[in-house]
Amino acid sequence: MSYFEFKFTDSVMYVKGVGPNRAKAMERLNIFTKYDLLTHYPRGYEDQSEITPIARAQIDEQGVFVGKLSNINLRETSRLKIITAILTDSSGSVQVTWFNQEYLMKKLHNGTRIMIIGKLKFDSWNCVMSINQINSFAILEPGEEISLGIKPIYPLTAALTQSVFRTAIRNLLDAMPPIKEILPASIITRLKLIPLDTAMRQIHFPDDEQSLRLARRRLAFDELFLIQCGLMLIKRKNTEEKLGITCKKNGALVKKVFESLPFQLTDDQLKTFKTVAKDMQSKLPMRRLIQGDVGSGKTVVAMLALVKAVENGYQGAMMAPTEILAVQHYNNFVKMLGDFGIRVGLLSAKVTRSKKMRTEVYEKIANHEFDIVVGTHALIQDEVKFANLGLVITDEQHRFGVAQRANLSQKSKAVPDMIVMTATPIPRTMTLTVYGDLEVSLIKQMPPGRKPIKTSVKNIRQRKKVYEFVREQILKGRQAYVVCPLIERSESATLNYIDPATEMYEMLSRGIFKGIKCALIHGKINPAEKDEIMEKFHDGEIKLLVSTTVIEVGVDVPNATVMVIENAERFGLSQLHQLRGRVGRGSEESFCILISNSKQGAAAARLDLMESTTDGFKLAEEDLQLRGPGQFFGESQHGLPDLKVANVFRDVDTLVEARNAAESVLSTDDGLNYFEELRQNLALAYGDKFSQINQA
Ligand code: ADP
Ligand code: MG
Repeated sequence: MSYFEFKFTDSVMYVKGVGPNRAKAMERLNIFTKYDLLTHYPRGYEDQSEITPIARAQIDEQGVFVGKLSNINLRETSRLKIITAILTDSSGSVQVTWFNQEYLMKKLHNGTRIMIIGKLKFDSWNCVMSINQINSFAILEPGEEISLGIKPIYPLTAALTQSVFRTAIRNLLDAMPPIKEILPASIITRLKLIPLDTAMRQIHFPDDEQSLRLARRRLAFDELFLIQCGLMLIKRKNTEEKLGITCKKNGALVKKVFESLPFQLTDDQLKTFKTVAKDMQSKLPMRRLIQGDVGSGKTVVAMLALVKAVENGYQGAMMAPTEILAVQHYNNFVKMLGDFGIRVGLLSAKVTRSKKMRTEVYEKIANHEFDIVVGTHALIQDEVKFANLGLVITDEQHRFGVAQRANLSQKSKAVPDMIVMTATPIPRTMTLTVYGDLEVSLIKQMPPGRKPIKTSVKNIRQRKKVYEFVREQILKGRQAYVVCPLIERSESATLNYIDPATEMYEMLSRGIFKGIKCALIHGKINPAEKDEIMEKFHDGEIKLLVSTTVIEVGVDVPNATVMVIENAERFGLSQLHQLRGRVGRGSEESFCILISNSKQGAAAARLDLMESTTDGFKLAEEDLQLRGPGQFFGESQHGLPDLKVANVFRDVDTLVEARNAAESVLSTDDGLNYFEELRQNLALAYGDKFSQINQA
């Protein structure tokens, strides 16, 4: 194939060594084109850069050994089939041991030359040293040259082996023309990046550690740079090209509501509201992320912003991730704003189920008979038409994607202001990647008078004592939550040690809490019933609420001061932190008791961390380290291209560099053209995933 005919968008089938069958198998790894194969990066590497003479093998150290086999022997014990053989090179001999691979007996013969990567260990059966931790080995054909170097290890799927990928990618790299640079030369020079073509080749077959590091850095940089350019473009389109609505300075209504608040705002709340008010008064559309740990009081800031929108003749919408939370905000707003003649509506599943109610609510929204509408994702249905939407707030944003928040802003002719609120303390890298199009306000302070929540980890044998304590607290007038990881007992036996919510409820309400009003709430209970239970819990009629994580986000019942979390090892740190945030909202002392039988390992360490800190940021960083970024993204809702090389946790520095670079490129006169052209060129050369970069 000639130079000019090579196309990255061609089917992977045409790469030498692939063909139709392997191409079919590769589809399972989302590899369709040559470019997909090129960017099927190794998940790791094995170092075969030097052959270790057998005489110099060190115990417990990995080596690469090449030699001939003799004395091949198969032994069977009750559980194991063990092959041993002697490997000899010019420096000496050593035993090699394979476990449970008796099929090798057919392949290994006296005199077979092999290359083996493994560790030297003591074989106590034979009382000799033996290479028995074998990472990989290959039988060498007579006269075959040993190829040394750092070898890639690829993510595989059934029917495809490492050597298929190694060969195919090698062939692809040999056949492809040099990859064109995409970055401006000035950035490459300033940041000392290696050429893209070199990086693409070195990431697969690195010459050495240093080259690999540089290749990773270059490719990570490119991924983050493209995302940053995309996000900045969204931001610019939102703020500079479109005109937003312009509010007046705070007037009588805002002031009256402000004065009627039952508490004084904290400095952080006040500062955030002032910033928000300023954003709203500017003619550019507001795009702001309010980040504040659970219980820091974000709702009241949101409410004041909504009142400001109403004062200026607009409607405001507030979107919550769960039914329970939407209803809670609704009740709260009605109570606080009803007296001022502000008309609040609720659009939730309960309302939308009945056609009559639904039509009525839609009409009131369309006719501006509601000033503020609170709802779940029901708010972004196509049929919902606002008369004059001026402000959109999404609460607990991590449940919604970029696309959804874009969708709600499109509900209005002018560009409405937008606030996104999240209680998940998102690490800085994540904020810049996922929310790079937003300005950020932080509410760090907690409202005054809060007592720290006492957290303790207990094992299952202490359960009785735990619930006796809970009972005492209830008799003192408090309320309590019990959270379980599952609704019902699962079919799978592996989860049998878990006590699901339904069974805990039976056990507790008939046993130790007999005579005390208990209730059960979970995702399968119908919305109307859920509302009723939450209302009764809120009013203090229900004392003990057994639930699943449906209460995780946002629920606010200050009199509930005890939370017991069953099988706590089943939850992630951020999730435990959110759950714990349901208590400690009033002035009474609060308790969070984590019940778990994990005494050691990662799970126990996680729970210990919960005991020792209440710092949501610290817990989130830790969680990111332990469980990866998926939990923050949701199922790739971010609508941005995948990060294949870049790691939002490890590559903070690269991210900041990429952001600065994107800023400097886009701020030049033809920055926009540069990016637009780049995007088109990439899409043309490599496929349409690049056309999506700025369409999030
Ligand atoms: P979150 O930020 O987790 O959404 P909320 O807005 O639900 O927190 O507020 C938590 C609780 O703190 C609520 O009961 C709220 O009324 C109360 N609260 C908010 N701000 C203050 C304040 N400045 N002083 C006292 N209590 C406050
Ligand atoms: Mg909240």
